[in-house]
Amino acid sequence: MKIGFIGLGNMGGPMATNLAKAGHEVTGFDMVDVAVEGVTIAKSAEEAAAGAEVVITMLPNGQILRTVADQIVPAMASGSVLLDCSTVDVDSARAVADQAMAAGLLALDAPVSGGIGGAQGGTLTFMVGGSEDAFAKAKPLFDIMGQKAVHCGPSGNGQAAKICNNMILGVTMIATCEAFALADKLGLDRQAMFDVVSTSSGYSWTMNAYCPAPGVGPQSPADNGYKPGFAADLMLKDLRLSQQAAEAADADTPMGQAAAALYAQFVEGEDGAGKDFSAMLPRFEKRGRG
Ligand code: NAD
Repeated sequence: MKIGFIGLGNMGGPMATNLAKAGHEVTGFDMVDVAVEGVTIAKSAEEAAAGAEVVITMLPNGQILRTVADQIVPAMASGSVLLDCSTVDVDSARAVADQAMAAGLLALDAPVSGGIGGAQGGTLTFMVGGSEDAFAKAKPLFDIMGQKAVHCGPSGNGQAAKICNNMILGVTMIATCEAFALADKLGLDRQAMFDVVSTSSGYSWTMNAYCPAPGVGPQSPADNGYKPGFAADLMLKDLRLSQQAAEAADADTPMGQAAAALYAQFVEGEDGAGKDFSAMLPRFEKRGRG
């Protein structure tokens, strides 16, 4: 398949390489100079998109996605698929899908979970919004770049699934970290805390698979100086998207709101920028109630 790939950063680069390794002809473009294994670099987004059966975008946010869509939609062949894998706001995802469909294209929003490791290893999970037709066309590519693709309904529903999942993740990480900090102050050993919670009703992905306490549970960013992993900055981005969507939909999300405020304080007011999102534990550890 001829594939265009716009946005060859931490995630897009390895995803494009995996498609090329599987035998697809990949032409890519990024705003900055990049060299990506197996990918022919075009001079513009339009050039990368022209003649492609599927154009994948992996960009920082909804505003940039809208700008890139204005550039590439007119260049894309009728019946080809615009497949956005970025994490963006639901409104931008739906607006870009409408723009693409009005131009005779198919459109999918397919944000991912699994991070840079998942992008490199081809083990991402895709949460996909768009038509059955578009999903069927893109399915072989999801199978190369990931281990699972869930069709969540019409355009925008992939982004909706992603921000709901990550709202749970942010809230759960905070709960896990504050419980460890409380356990410390009560004199409860962290290993004992893990042994109990990971097999009791407080268990969760953040405790069992990504334990924020160093030396406890499976290997995680906590064992690597809280180097990401999944950066607190990206968690803040996703929590803000969840609250933007909640406001637009008039949904009451007090825990998501509290998590967004706490990650904002950590990343923008304290020393959380560039750290893994599980570094909430050393943050709580240092604090009292005041
Ligand atoms: P990144 O910043 O490494 O990559 C984005 C790339 O887009 C950059 O190389 C940038 O130069 C390029 N770009 C920006 N504007 C452009 C334009 N107008 N035209 C062409 N290229 C342009 O970010 P990333 O970590 O690869 O993340 C990409 C997306 O995936 C984001 O939406 C992010 O939220 C999401 N995501 C990231 C992770 C992660 O762990 N990094 C996990 C899940 C989802």
